[in-house]
Amino acid sequence: MAGGKLAQSVSCLICLEEGQVSEARRTYEGDENDEYTCPKGHKFNMDWSGGEATTPLWPPTEELKRAMEKDGKIGGSR
Ligand SMILES: [Zn+2]
Repeated sequence: MAGGKLAQSVSCLICLEEGQVSEARRTYEGDENDEYTCPKGHKFNMDWSGGEATTPLWPPTEELKRAMEKDGKIGGSR
């Protein structure tokens, strides 16, 4: 249940805070919350109590990537 088929993978929220985009895979599917783990071992929960995802959450949208680049977090000089 929870996030549904389109929410099998999401961008890791913890990596995002560090300026990285990583694919976090669902490791546990609950009724309202799913647990995700990214390749770096970050674990976090997503609350889907408002309903299943209606658009795929991975790969990240151009919008997200643009927003990250604008912040200078990814795609910069490093
Ligand atoms: Zn991560």
